[in-house]
Amino acid sequence: MSNRPLPILPGATLGILGGGQLGRMFTLAARGMGYKVMVLDPDAASPAGQMADIHLQAGYTDPGALQRLGAACAAVTTEFENVPAASLIELANYCRVSPGAAAVAIVQDRSHEKAWLADNGFATAPFALVDSEAGLDAALAATGTPALLKVSRFGYDGKGQARVGTLEAARAAFREFGGQPCVLEGFVRLEREVSVVLARDDAGECTLFPVAENRHDNGILDVSIVPARVPDSLAQEARETARAVAGKLGYVGVMAVEFFVADGQLMINEIAPRPHNSGHYTLDACVTDQFEQQVRVLCGLPLGDTRLLSPVVMVNILGDRWRDGGPHWDALLAHPAIKLHLYGKETARAGRKMGHFNVLDADPDRALQLAERMRGVL
Ligand code: AMP
Repeated sequence: MSNRPLPILPGATLGILGGGQLGRMFTLAARGMGYKVMVLDPDAASPAGQMADIHLQAGYTDPGALQRLGAACAAVTTEFENVPAASLIELANYCRVSPGAAAVAIVQDRSHEKAWLADNGFATAPFALVDSEAGLDAALAATGTPALLKVSRFGYDGKGQARVGTLEAARAAFREFGGQPCVLEGFVRLEREVSVVLARDDAGECTLFPVAENRHDNGILDVSIVPARVPDSLAQEARETARAVAGKLGYVGVMAVEFFVADGQLMINEIAPRPHNSGHYTLDACVTDQFEQQVRVLCGLPLGDTRLLSPVVMVNILGDRWRDGGPHWDALLAHPAIKLHLYGKETARAGRKMGHFNVLDADPDRALQLAERMRGVL
């Protein structure tokens, strides 16, 4: 007998914890396939809430809201890693929930995640766990300098991180972060960064999307290039490593594994228990995109074909672009092979992800050139 649960079919209601852009794109995919969607997010103007059939405007631990969500939905998923594990456990009393609380609890805490990766034999940058100022001396000896001090919880897009070159600087950063648990990481000379988005179902079947090459600006993803410009053997190793991580976590759902490439070797940077910004290219360039895959895996449907239909370059659009007269959409939309995705956020702030665009071209160099040009023009 197969382990697969009976599939949840179109017409059913799906729930999502979190109403950001990832939740919005999940909602659009699910509604496009004929599901109803209920979004739980405290923000009245949340990007996903705008698209949902029902927006429950409440906190993620609100017992009444969790009960309503669980009772109304055939299955619930999440779009952010900091979802309280207790809420996932509570929802699992009512309906199918993926990913599970145990996997999320590991990857939502950088210290747990790093320790778990090391315990399971996955290569990472040299690191040490720090929970007191007194521990910084030994930690720096382990990682060398320069190093990056990163808070264990609630850091994202380079926030809650400080580059430190001396013990004094590390102490100052640790104090600035309020003395909370941190990971100290040796600073790696990066050749490239790559990532793999995958889906793994209850039966352990795993489908992987093509490897993306990612460029960051100020700790925030700027551009993804697919296929990644790395040797086939390295791309294959990234995919197999990501598959092994998902398997060892017993993960069910869509997840992403981000890697550093240094000296031709892969190191895992971090794991995201959800679709990922570096997988937004799949929206226009793959047979199945990462959000449809999230719907499929949540509903116990067969996983979709992840084949790449065209080389593609994804460019993030940050709030900074709204300075000086705002983005020049006309210039962008003049190109027939550029696909624009905006997230419906009302306020543009520096560093805030407002949308992205995908540039498709059979010639990957031409796609990158046009993406770079449009990035400048916008
Ligand atoms: P993170 O939020 O930890 O993924 O960091 C954001 C970005 O900062 C990464 O994608 C890298 O570009 C850079 N970064 C983070 N950790 C390191 C490291 N140990 N060495 C070099 N660059 C790093």
